[in-house]
Amino acid sequence: MKTTSLTLTSLLICLGAAAQSPPPNGGGAYQLPTAPCVTPELRSSVVAMLQANLHALEVRGQLPAPQAPEMSEANAVLFDWPLRLAPGVSYRSYYGISNYVDQDTAFPNKLLDYNCGNRSYDLASGYNHPGTDIFTWPFSRLMQANNTVQVIAAQAGTVIGKSDGNADNSCAMCTACQWNAVFIRHTDGSVAWYGHMKKNSLTAKNVGDAVAKAEYLGIVGSSGSSTGPHLHFEVYRNSTFTLANRIDPYAGPCNRLNGNTTWWVTQKPYREPMVNRLVTHHAPPVFGTCPELEKPNDRREFQQGDTVYFATYYHDQQQGATTQYSVLQPDASIFRSWSHNAPSTYNASYWYWWYILPSNAPVGTWTFRTLFNGMTDTVQFSVKPSTPTAVLNLANGQFVRIYPNPAPAEAPLRLEWRLDGARQRPVQVRVWDLNGRLHIYRPSVRSGQPIPMPTACGVYVVEVFVSARERYRLQVARQ
Ligand SMILES: [Zn+2]
Repeated sequence: MKTTSLTLTSLLICLGAAAQSPPPNGGGAYQLPTAPCVTPELRSSVVAMLQANLHALEVRGQLPAPQAPEMSEANAVLFDWPLRLAPGVSYRSYYGISNYVDQDTAFPNKLLDYNCGNRSYDLASGYNHPGTDIFTWPFSRLMQANNTVQVIAAQAGTVIGKSDGNADNSCAMCTACQWNAVFIRHTDGSVAWYGHMKKNSLTAKNVGDAVAKAEYLGIVGSSGSSTGPHLHFEVYRNSTFTLANRIDPYAGPCNRLNGNTTWWVTQKPYREPMVNRLVTHHAPPVFGTCPELEKPNDRREFQQGDTVYFATYYHDQQQGATTQYSVLQPDASIFRSWSHNAPSTYNASYWYWWYILPSNAPVGTWTFRTLFNGMTDTVQFSVKPSTPTAVLNLANGQFVRIYPNPAPAEAPLRLEWRLDGARQRPVQVRVWDLNGRLHIYRPSVRSGQPIPMPTACGVYVVEVFVSARERYRLQVARQ
């Protein structure tokens, strides 16, 4: 009699059903640390450069005289959003706002944004944040490396300044550093600064050239005094770059600069709760230490038995806001569903949960879905068959195998073999526990047919009787 056994070193862990709404396995706030985007040193050199350029353009007659905006929306100088995704990239969103213009000119820590909140910063040195900081999220350094987010002209105008060629991987404040930036004067004489762009990514347009609305200006980067890739967008009423002439494009009750006059075609809300991206990962995302690139560990192809990390990246998630999460199998039935309430309010945040795909998980296209703030987002991933792990390989390509292993509680096992002589002849199957107690007996099983397993978790021995003289034993774990 041939007796062969296969020993498994499977973890003998009974995996209970997931709780209704389990706490996240990871995540939390993503905060772009603050640094003075435009240090006093940089500001004075920028203003000197702009004044010299303006003078030269005027002398050469290349600077259109400012025209008073007419009282019609078509002629008003209003801004479109100054960022967009590169062609071919489609995310629900890709940014968050870390800082608005600080309306309170006292310091330090006297903060007031246009909406009477404190989403801004200032410094003891007398620095009040003068612009709007829009950072890219998630994986901003990777997005910079891949040219994923473009800076575009919020309004048409004339280029009156441009600086490029400066290092673009800043991680902290720096006083002597220069940024890569474009400065545009609009038809009404107002001026917008677009700062911190990626080195050598700037438009080929030169000082004096016209740019159209939505024209490409560069790639979001982290040049100059910056802690990570973001656009610093700063606006002045005219070419005198003083506090008195500063504009905050957002209209609101605490806007002391231009009050209730918005400079946006469509002003986005103060909080814009939104999912930026859904990602399936094979391991938790690694954000790393600036300036190293993030390692998203994202994956869209999995096998039965794999662990999948289901991650959601947000901007403006607000305290108490609920997200409904579901993971759908290929037939649209629910594999897992749960919900989560944001424990705080974030400019940017992320949360992830991991689940093990059963070893008999349906093969095909799965969907990870969220419902948040009335918006549904989905990402699809594929599940392929796992390699059976309980395999008894015999001579001449013969084998006996049982899959899936470890076995989930919800489904039977399948037994397959290829054996000289036996071929498709039915076999007798007995399933024992390790104490020698018989649990299952099937007198006739064909290759590929399911065999039942005991419901209790643990390790079992599956005995396959091919004939009176030929018997194989495999150990199989029941989860
Ligand atoms: Zn800034």
